[in-house]
Amino acid sequence: MSGGDASPRVLHPLARRSLTRLINPVRLVEKPPLEDAPPRIFLDANENAYGGPFCRYPEVDPAAVRTLYTSYLDRETEQRGGGRTPWLTSDYVWLTAGSAEGIDLVIRAFGEAGDTLCTTSPAFPMYEHWARAYDLSVIDFPLQGERRNQLLVERIVAAQPKITFLTSPHNPYGAPLDPGEVLGLLERLRGIVAIDEAYLEVSTDPSFARLIARFPNLIVLRSFSKAWGLAGLRLGAIIAVPSAIEAVCRLASAYLVSTPALETLHLVLGDTAPIEASWQRLREERERVAQRLAQLRAVKRVHPSCTHFLLIELHDVAACVRALAHAGILIKPLDPRAGTARITISRVEENDQLLEVLGRL
Ligand code: PMP
Repeated sequence: MSGGDASPRVLHPLARRSLTRLINPVRLVEKPPLEDAPPRIFLDANENAYGGPFCRYPEVDPAAVRTLYTSYLDRETEQRGGGRTPWLTSDYVWLTAGSAEGIDLVIRAFGEAGDTLCTTSPAFPMYEHWARAYDLSVIDFPLQGERRNQLLVERIVAAQPKITFLTSPHNPYGAPLDPGEVLGLLERLRGIVAIDEAYLEVSTDPSFARLIARFPNLIVLRSFSKAWGLAGLRLGAIIAVPSAIEAVCRLASAYLVSTPALETLHLVLGDTAPIEASWQRLREERERVAQRLAQLRAVKRVHPSCTHFLLIELHDVAACVRALAHAGILIKPLDPRAGTARITISRVEENDQLLEVLGRL
């Protein structure tokens, strides 16, 4: 183990109490500052030099990639009318192995047994799963309205949960939360408000991360599995005030993200134009597919969506899923009683095959 700076950084006041006594593992494995020559021979980490290109541990603090991501976030927020975020430096970002790992870390870093975690169903099941695994009590305040994008603000505020998990845009309803309601919650909740923005990029809304400078209890989770097209690499990001990032890091392992994942993310963030162009294609394709689906006999209803999937209601969901599977096409059946299914928008020719099979029913 190499030395490194073990001085404690400021810890978020809502962090799990045990973390006040712990050192951030990143500091423990950081290489010592360079003296006369850059290190050439690595005899400090028990790796096997006869191994292949990945025989070394990944970079412990991928600051360059984090900086590229904050530049992207600043651009994204400005382009979407959310203003500039020059204060959002790399200290506000930590990378995780998928946003699912980020969700787990946030619940553990801020939640303790007996604390209350609030969900707004229908919600990504892992919020509740991990909360229960760590003996938090879960209170659910179902989303309201036809698009399931309205919050029971007063009831959530009255519960004063330690952690509140929100999802925007919603999966599977595909609608963003009302920014006014989210702001109302942030102004009145003393606990952590975690907003899962796994599906933000294909929408045209700015990230709630722009509000972090005003609300140190706000944590935003982003995923590189969806719009960024990197699901196989397992990459996500936690965006929060540095004291909250410190809490997460004190809890986490020093090496969350692998070298191939970091290298690929560096490349993708170095030139975001191609992937951003794909988001525009997906927006256009979503509208085309939604219109075509709405004309099919098998389809009862297509819900409007701001992201790259559609929630649809089918007259006979089981028959549609079967016919599609027969043609080698997978969709996600949801509630059999409501006849709902979720369809990811894909390449034009694949979407056309979906429309053709459903059109025959
Ligand atoms: N949040 C939401 C709302 C999701 O739907 C998913 C995946 N289905 C995740 C988080 C996790 O995504 P990942 O771990 O691949 O980043």
